[in-house]
This record gives sequence, C-alpha cells and structure tokens, in this order.
Amino acid sequence: MNSMTTLQRDNLFPAFQDQFGREKRKLRISVTDRCNFKCVYCMPEHPEWMKKHDLLSFEELFSFCEFMVKHGIEQIRITGGEPLMRCGVVHFVAQLQVLRAYGLKRISMTTNGHYLKQYASALKQAGLDDVNISLDSLDPVQFFELTKKHLEPVLEGIQAAQQAGFKIKINAVLIKGFNEKQILPLSYWAKTVNVELRFIEFMPLDGDQNWTKDSIVSEQEILDELASVFEVNTLQGQGAHPARTYTVDGMPIGIISTITNSFCGTCDRLRLNAQGEFFNCLFSTQGMPLKQHLQQLMKGGIRSDTELKTVLNSYIWSKERGFHAIQEKQNSHQNLSQNSKKISMHMIGG
Ligand code: SAM
Ligand code: SF4
Repeated sequence: MNSMTTLQRDNLFPAFQDQFGREKRKLRISVTDRCNFKCVYCMPEHPEWMKKHDLLSFEELFSFCEFMVKHGIEQIRITGGEPLMRCGVVHFVAQLQVLRAYGLKRISMTTNGHYLKQYASALKQAGLDDVNISLDSLDPVQFFELTKKHLEPVLEGIQAAQQAGFKIKINAVLIKGFNEKQILPLSYWAKTVNVELRFIEFMPLDGDQNWTKDSIVSEQEILDELASVFEVNTLQGQGAHPARTYTVDGMPIGIISTITNSFCGTCDRLRLNAQGEFFNCLFSTQGMPLKQHLQQLMKGGIRSDTELKTVLNSYIWSKERGFHAIQEKQNSHQNLSQNSKKISMHMIGG
C-alpha cells in the first residue's frame, strides 16, 4: 500500500484540541452572510451585510481548508447565509476534492434549498457528499411567514437533490406558538419522501434577539408529540453528532436540543465566517480575525504556517465548556467586553 492510499483511508494528522480534550475534526465554512430568505429565527429585519470586498476569496478559503485538513479536519460543511448565493461555490466544491488525499472524508452543504433545482446536479458532479436542507413548515402560508419566500421552489429543490443522488437531511427549527403543529406533518412527509428529518431547538442566535426560553419547543415536547401517534424508540448513540436520534415508527428522526440537552461535551467543530473570523464555538461572542494570516499563508513559507498554527492552537485551546458555561459568564458580566458583539446565525453560519 503506498502512502497516499494510507492518507486516503485515515487522517494521519493530529487534530487541534481544546482544554477539555475535545479534538476538532469538523470545519464549517460560511461563504457569504447574504441570504434570499428572512427566517424569523435567524435574519434581522434590517441586515447589515458584510462588504463584498471584505469577504474571503475562494483562494483564501481553499488555503485555509487545506491547512485545516493537514491539521486533522475530516469533514467540511459549506454554509452561510445562503451558500448557493455565492457565485463560484460549485467550483469551490470541485476544488476541495484534492484534499481527500490528505484525509478529508466528507464535503457537505447546508442550504435553504431554493436554488437546488438549478444546482443539485452540478454539485453532485463537483463531488459534494450530502446536503442538509432547511424546511420548517409544509404549510405554504406559514412557510412564507417564517421565511418571506415561497415553499414550492424548496420542495422542487429537495426533489432535484434526491434525483441527483444526494443523501438529504431536513432541518426544521421549531418555535413555540408558531410552527410546533408541524411536528407530525413533517414526520409523515419525511417518511413518504424518504428523507431524514431533524428538529432543532430554537437557539438565541436570531438577528433581532427576540429569543426567549419560552419560545423553545424542547426535545421532550417534541418526543411527546411524536409519541402521541408513533411508536418512539431507543435513542441511538450520539457520539459527536449534534442530533440525538430516535426511531419513530422505524424511521430515524433526530433532535438537536442545544438548549435542553446540549451536545457541547463532545463538540468537535470549528467555524470560519465569510470575512475570515474564526470561531471555536457557535455561541462565541468574539471571533479570531484570520484574514491577514490567510494572506500570509497564501504567500507560502513555513513561518506563516507555524504562525497560523500557534494562533489557532491557543484560541482553540481556550474554547469554553459549552453553551451553558458561556451563558453563565455573560449573565455575570452583564456588559460584554467592548469588542464582543451579538452574533446571529446568518453571520456565523449554522
Ligand atoms: N441558509 C442555509 C439554511 O438555512 O439552511 C444555511 C445557513 S443557516 C444559518 C444554517 C442552519 O441554521 C439552518 O438549518 C437553520 O435552520 C439554522 N438556524 C438558523 N437560525 C437558528 C436559530 N436561531 N436556532 C436554531 N437554528 C437556527
Ligand atoms: Fe437564510 Fe438560512 Fe438564515 Fe433562513 S436560516 S435566513 S435561509 S441563512
């Protein structure tokens, strides 16, 4: 067996690690903060988009991905904003393929699905492995209230992705008093069209900061609703996955219960936003600016490589224990430090 084959089977590079011993194997790359949707749980009413000239180029993004794969990253998820709104993203997926030789095992995308009818086949050809699609309601009127866009193109996008041969997961965020009545219809539908469904607890990452604890539909409430008509069984091993998976009348349904059953204890993710700020946690209030480091990295040289490694090592090491620890800290320092800002999901990339 030659050395390249060995690399393809296993990532031989040691991973970055945080102070709690959690190795980092997954990277989420946001390629834009822009979006054609305005989901109430994500986008502010008046978004201030990042300036186009501040966004990382695909060359910079690729350099970073290459560096990270050579430091233990095995899975890359492309997200946003809406990733399919960034011109060139299909080509970027194709470019990433070369990193499989160094241990990259999976290239995924999270999308609202609106443009999938147009892009699904090209993404498959480019080598994308799987797609997560957001769909929070099957009621066209409610879907419009939630997103300010129409449901039909998303359903067509899901169909196109299936026809292209993708494994699909559907993400549904539930908000109390809004769409929790969709738990059963979405479950029936997922079974009929044969997609894996995951319900997500509403997190305090909405742009206009309307989130309250009372607006969460908890994992237990979701399970109770499912159990009212389905046989709900055994929790499958969660590992480092964010979703706890149940079998519901034989089909797997996941619940991402960041608030009531946080998976932070096994978190193996890192994130880069579209303008090159690096986050060791979804709930960090401050990212680490990396754009200049990436520009140095592209110029090459062992020094830039070592410098970036040092910077990342120390930032990743300092990752907090998790969501609840960060909340407690914020509550005890009512005024966040001057540099920290409220980060919403469309900015960091969910
Ligand atoms: N635009 C794409 C989409 O909607 O799939 C990708 C980006 S979006 C920020 C990524 C994921 O974050 C989506 O599944 C979305 O439902 C989820 N999300 C956004 N805001 C959220 C919130 N406040 N709480 C929980 N999930 C949220
Ligand atoms: Fe756009 Fe996705 Fe946020 Fe909805 S959840 S506003 S589709 S980025």
